[in-house]
Amino acid sequence: MRTAEPAGFRDFSIRESRSHAQPSTRISPDLPVCDECLRELFDPADRRYLYPYINCTNCGPRYTITQALPYDRHNTTMSHWPLDDACARQYHDPADRRFHAQPVSCPACGPNYLQPGIAATADLLRSGKIVAVKGIGGYHLVCDAANHAAVLALRERKFRKEKPFAVMAKDLTCARALVHLTADAEALMTSPARPIVLSPARAALAGVAPDNDEIGVMLPYAPLHYLLFAAGAPDVLVMTSANRSSEPIAYTDDDARERLSEIADAFLIGERPIARRVDDSVARAGAFGPVILRRSRGYAPGAVARFAVDRPILAVGADLKNTITLVASGQAFVSQHIGDLDHYQAFEAFRETIRDLLAMYQVRPEDLLVVRDAHPQYVSTTLALELPAAERWPVQHHRAHIASVLAEREAWDEPVLGVSFDGTGYGDDGAIWGGEIFAGSIARGFERIAHLRYAPLPGGDAAAQHPVQAAAGFLLNIEGLPNLAAEPFLFPQRYEVARHLARTGVRTFQTSSMGRLFDTAAALLGFHTAITFEGQAAMWLEHIARTAPPRDAYPFPLVEAELDFRPLLLAVAEDRRRGRDPGEIARAFQLGIAQGLCAALETLSRQTGTGTVVLSGGVFQNEMLLADIQALVADSRLRIWTNHAVPPNDGGISLGQAAMAAMGAPNP
Ligand code: ZN
Ligand code: FE
Repeated sequence: MRTAEPAGFRDFSIRESRSHAQPSTRISPDLPVCDECLRELFDPADRRYLYPYINCTNCGPRYTITQALPYDRHNTTMSHWPLDDACARQYHDPADRRFHAQPVSCPACGPNYLQPGIAATADLLRSGKIVAVKGIGGYHLVCDAANHAAVLALRERKFRKEKPFAVMAKDLTCARALVHLTADAEALMTSPARPIVLSPARAALAGVAPDNDEIGVMLPYAPLHYLLFAAGAPDVLVMTSANRSSEPIAYTDDDARERLSEIADAFLIGERPIARRVDDSVARAGAFGPVILRRSRGYAPGAVARFAVDRPILAVGADLKNTITLVASGQAFVSQHIGDLDHYQAFEAFRETIRDLLAMYQVRPEDLLVVRDAHPQYVSTTLALELPAAERWPVQHHRAHIASVLAEREAWDEPVLGVSFDGTGYGDDGAIWGGEIFAGSIARGFERIAHLRYAPLPGGDAAAQHPVQAAAGFLLNIEGLPNLAAEPFLFPQRYEVARHLARTGVRTFQTSSMGRLFDTAAALLGFHTAITFEGQAAMWLEHIARTAPPRDAYPFPLVEAELDFRPLLLAVAEDRRRGRDPGEIARAFQLGIAQGLCAALETLSRQTGTGTVVLSGGVFQNEMLLADIQALVADSRLRIWTNHAVPPNDGGISLGQAAMAAMGAPNP
């Protein structure tokens, strides 16, 4: 028995909308099928028996079918299907559960799924085939998660070598067999947003999440999913966004057919059009509470904070894991996950989403305060400069990370120590930042008071693809290193080439990136290949660190205003040369980072009189780091705030940007 939280809008004074009315209604995020609809779905006597588009006022798609406001049927992708008498009666009956349910339909009057049909799809999945299945916010590529050959074929055809796949478990019992679920994790997994929840794996699913302790698991949310499992599909299915590598998810039928024909063995196509692409959300029940790592279906485009401003603000986010935030009528609406803008289709999606939200909330572009990253070369920056706007603001990347946490809490004046541990971001001095500690508040601005010691970074941002390239920079000026060309390191040629660049300063930048520091440690422990997705080397390091108990911690001291990585990396290299187990080394590295940071925060807290600490930036997706910090500050006077509603990664940047600009924060 599963209870679903009441969610969405329950407006009890529903009237006919006038088409010229101001869209005062907000768009609801999409909702999972409710228990009552599920009962009807499997009741042979019901008119909607086995009907994959069953829904009611309490459940079903919203954002993904809404084409314009007000939210009325003729403004949804259901407008092609006039109601038959039976559906119309329900739609107009205030006593009915489907009273004014805009997407209401039935097999007689509504859309359906086309051949080969649901039962045939379940058969195909059982026999190891890959099927492209149209869902709520786009197509999924689906296969049997227990079939290694099918999973490998999917990886090969999708050009997705190592990045973990999410799975859908038939029910909570199946999910519990797959992963260790805390009460918090179960609450997230069964919440109306039905996100993919990352939890420690209990069973190995070969090829699903290589070099990872966690599996991302979600539960069925569309009627179609329940029908697939009922028709005999395997209990655990790989369900990944239908695209090639980092392209945006396919959501129109033509696009899916065109882009997925070489990946999918078959297509299960539903007739109801999807108004816009919305990926599955990703969340984790973290050490400091639930955190959303990808904010999309079920959350978007919900408001995450109230802003005390009248003017509309559009914050265009960062170039990676892009989201945008629109502040309209004092509400901050954060878009769905858009993706990495260096991909043409993602950039198109970015522009579409801006147009879409502005139109939806009837904001005129020329009234906007447009906020963007301070990075002069971001494509989001270029677009922000082209948009008509009343005014434009740049916001430094890592200040935006800190502001994102505070904006969620509407803590505009709270003085904090803000720790932004991140991969990459453009700093005030033109260096590549990513290991910054600030003091201040959104209202008064953030002053950088400490940072990771600078290291040369040969190749600049391109070094993020190659841990050994980052290592060449970080290790360049460390005295007493062992020979890294010899056993057990055997660094590849790329290291020497990059080292030469770093030494001569050619194409070399200064960086304080914690992400690259993790990459360097990973390289020292044997990660020599190029990464195939952002954060991969750090995830690998965390993965091997989990094989060892926390014992010792390598030194990572705050010297003056710099966190000095040299003793830390020297200890890693020395222990590795001595033959210490790489898992133990990784664990001591992780604990060293946590201890060094907490000691630095104690010092800075005494100096500034600030006890509230904000942690944000991509590095804080590292759950082991958060758990170590939590244990270390347990008896201290430090109070830790982290992201909950928006991601600590660059998906949260747009909210932070909007907050900084809304408060008129000084921004060097
Ligand atoms: Zn329902
Ligand atoms: Fe970032």
